[in-house]
Amino acid sequence: MRSSLFLLRCGAAFYTSAMELVNLQNATELLGLTPAQLQELMQKLNEKPFRARQLYANLFRRRLLNFEAMTDLPKTLRRKLADHTIITRTRIEKVFVASDGTRRFLLRLFDGCEVEAVFMPEDHRDTICISSQVGCPLACDFCMTGVFGLKRNMSAAEIVAQVIIVLNAVYGAGNETPHGTNIVMMGMGEPLLNYDNAMKAVRLFADEEGLQIAPRRVTLSTAGIVPRLYDMAQEAIRPRLAISLTAANDELRNRLFPINRKYPLAVLLAACRAYPLSERERLTFEYVMLKEVNDSDKDARQLIRLLAGVKAKVNLIPHNPAPELPYLASSEERILAFQKILVAAGLPAFIRRPRGQDIAAACGQLAARHQANA
Ligand code: SF4
Repeated sequence: MRSSLFLLRCGAAFYTSAMELVNLQNATELLGLTPAQLQELMQKLNEKPFRARQLYANLFRRRLLNFEAMTDLPKTLRRKLADHTIITRTRIEKVFVASDGTRRFLLRLFDGCEVEAVFMPEDHRDTICISSQVGCPLACDFCMTGVFGLKRNMSAAEIVAQVIIVLNAVYGAGNETPHGTNIVMMGMGEPLLNYDNAMKAVRLFADEEGLQIAPRRVTLSTAGIVPRLYDMAQEAIRPRLAISLTAANDELRNRLFPINRKYPLAVLLAACRAYPLSERERLTFEYVMLKEVNDSDKDARQLIRLLAGVKAKVNLIPHNPAPELPYLASSEERILAFQKILVAAGLPAFIRRPRGQDIAAACGQLAARHQANA
């Protein structure tokens, strides 16, 4: 969600031989399996149930990505697992490091498709921005991901693998998830169009025996797939919700977000009002600041009226311009003036400073320089 630019390349065979590719494609990817599914796997392998708990801890608590390192499992079981399963087929293709410490990971999936994940360090907390689809079908007018369309949904294993691979690259494997790790599902794709896999990933993140990333530390950003918002409201374990708004009237939003024609603002805001929130929780509305498109005082006042009665906060996001897109970034002064109007009306509003700009990796605005050069 909210990607301004994103690369999309698929199709190249990743593994060296066709035979190897076929075998790995048929293997079960363990990073997408729940504890119950690992129990079933152990049953099929004629192993005792407690081996499933050991394997789960190795995969999700210690983030071990090869069986040899799982020394609490007998050698025979490790060999069996290696013969019948695979932990993940996702590999790091390239890493770009920005001057502010942001790292952009270009990840290659088993079928040659590439997605990105971004690691953003801060004092006492880190944020990892992940993708949920290869490409995106929503064709938002200010986003290059939409230009390329949807290639496919990512599996739950592929969604989870992004977090584990990034944590291992930064901190190494073998330890519990660092306290204060946050996840934002704001990379490539619309997570609510890959609902089951996105929610399964959220449950795997949250498991206290595993990754231990509480749902309040996970934010799912959506353009507003309204029926899925009502589904999400029923989930026992659900992430924080962010709505990518960027326009406060239907005329403009229809242009920026074609999905708005299907789910106009009144319908979207009705779902937001019905969404269950804890006492201290607010819905986040993301508002990408586009010069002379949505950044006037009038736009600010319209936004205030639109969000009246909603427990909301607004994140104002400076746009990352790209030559391929017909939008420019609002000036710093304009963003500050816009924020001032919202805050004066009692609407909490924060300016999100872009990260990793020198590697074009601001979260949710991931760049396609690679694509342009491919
Ligand atoms: S919904 Fe899709 S097209 Fe729209 S901003 Fe997000 S990634 Fe881009």
